[in-house]
Amino acid sequence: MIRRHYLAGLHWDPVKAQVVTVIVVGAMGAAIVIAALLVVRDSVNSTNRFARAEDLSSDIAMSAAAIAQTAAETERVYYKAAVTEAATAGTFRVPTLTALDIMERLAALQSNANELHGSIASAETLALLQAATDLREAYRNLLAASDLRKAPAPEQDIAALQTVLVPRAQAIQQQSSEVHSSFHSQVHSQSSSTTRVLVFACIGLVAAVAVAAVILGLLGWAVGKKLTRAVRDVTAEKSALAITARVMERRNTQLQALYQIVTEVTETLSMKYVVQTTIREAHRLVGADLVVLRLLRGDALEVAGALQDDDTDVSGLHTIQLGEGIEGRAAKRGRLLRTERNAKDSFGEGEGFTGAQSGVVVPLIVGARVVGTLACWSRELDLFTTDDEKVLEMMASQVATAVVAADTYETTEHHSRHDPLTALPNRRQLTTDLRDRFGPELARGTPVAVAMVDVDHFKRFNDEFGHQVGDVTLQRVAEVIRSTLRETDDAYRYGGEEFVLLVENDDREAVAHLMERVREAVATTLVKGDSLQAVGPVTISIGVAFGPEDSRDPEALIKMADAALYDAKRAGRNRVCLYAADAGAAATGESAPAAA
Ligand code: GH3
Ligand code: MG
Ligand code: MG
Repeated sequence: MIRRHYLAGLHWDPVKAQVVTVIVVGAMGAAIVIAALLVVRDSVNSTNRFARAEDLSSDIAMSAAAIAQTAAETERVYYKAAVTEAATAGTFRVPTLTALDIMERLAALQSNANELHGSIASAETLALLQAATDLREAYRNLLAASDLRKAPAPEQDIAALQTVLVPRAQAIQQQSSEVHSSFHSQVHSQSSSTTRVLVFACIGLVAAVAVAAVILGLLGWAVGKKLTRAVRDVTAEKSALAITARVMERRNTQLQALYQIVTEVTETLSMKYVVQTTIREAHRLVGADLVVLRLLRGDALEVAGALQDDDTDVSGLHTIQLGEGIEGRAAKRGRLLRTERNAKDSFGEGEGFTGAQSGVVVPLIVGARVVGTLACWSRELDLFTTDDEKVLEMMASQVATAVVAADTYETTEHHSRHDPLTALPNRRQLTTDLRDRFGPELARGTPVAVAMVDVDHFKRFNDEFGHQVGDVTLQRVAEVIRSTLRETDDAYRYGGEEFVLLVENDDREAVAHLMERVREAVATTLVKGDSLQAVGPVTISIGVAFGPEDSRDPEALIKMADAALYDAKRAGRNRVCLYAADAGAAATGESAPAAA
């Protein structure tokens, strides 16, 4: 499952915020720069205009001064010229030049005043223009009315010239000087305001960049923090998923094992198979180092099967009494028990498994009856979980039913093939063994002997000591026969007081000798009656036939042994007769009791 909370934090996208910041701050910066440029351009234009006006006003002032000076000097020039005329009697040119010079200067002055007013219109410039125009007009009128162009000019005309020109020109000079100083200060203030605008624009830009840097830094820090948290959350999520995957995998294995068990143990009636499947799958199910299945026989929990993690045989596990150790207590209480540590204390002296720490024991219960325990042990501390408990309990209920079914079946099967009185295999088992084992061996030529045993005068014995004593005596006879035979020989209760023995025919003499020992062992057995008085003696007669020399057919061999037995009876009982085909009677190998 993907958790979403750590992604939710990214919904206000800091990266987007960074982009927006860059755009906003960039736009602000651009606006500042453009505004500053416009202001600077206007300011420079205006400064230029004022500078030009300053120049013009300066020119006007200079022109006015020059006019005033020329006008003022005209008289001096005149007198100087008069003196010079007197000396040289030449022509008087100077006043004409002066008049023209003044005319030109006045024209320039008016033109400058006009340009000045055209460039910067104000009351002062208008007044200046007006004064320049008036002066020029006045001078023009003066020129028209007087003989200033004559040489020498009449004295009164020069006086009029000076009266008209000098004060007015001086006034214009004064006026234009004032205008000039006003423009000069304008130019100064314009350039200092341009500098201020530039400084403010720079500060604004720097501030905008600084603000942008701070915002971007903070956003970057926020992004970093969020990313770190997201990465940490994703890592945590990943490891949680890995743990979940491991748990699921384990659960899957457990369910498979459970399914395996249910199908396998419910399909079989073999106790061995049920036990083996159970311990194998329980081992797989919970990953135990040792699994032990015990079955309750009376008050004892006997080991039915055990499996170690390395598949080695588990030796030396003792039978446990109800209530003893964890397994005994689990069986007695009919409850699952779990231990986290020190399970080794549950193992006794000489038991093969060492170092057990944790363990879980489940009782096998059918109905309300405990039929055994399933114990899982581990050398790890606290290995088993509540999930393990649950799955083992589910498994145990199936196993318990299968154990009881197999036990019932095997007991029934055993009873159907064994004689309840003597506990020997019965005639049914003999038929099976003859068909499956003995017959094929005989057919292959393996030397095997068949002996037919019958208790002598047993009817009389029953009559004399009672049927019950007869039963006990039959049990005793069976025990003696079984214990006298070798491990490889088999004894069956054939019916009534008759037994069939299947013995290895390694040597005819040896078999005859073994049969003689059996006969003698029975004859010398002390048999007791109801009140423990000695009864008997009880003797047996034995007829023996040998395969493959007498026959390779087991049924035929039984008949031959029976014939030999008949011979033994006829010969006086309590003896061993070997079958002799041509003799009719068991002439060969017949033995008689030494003290009969
Ligand atoms: P023989 O020496 O010729 O074999 O004499 P016998 O009396 O043993 O022969 P018979 O076959 O006539 O008698 C067998 C007797 O064995 C009959 C029966 O009462 C007795 N018998 C058979 N089975 C049992 C049994 O399970 N318990 C007891 N108590 N007696 C049995
Ligand atoms: Mg008989
Ligand atoms: Mg008999």
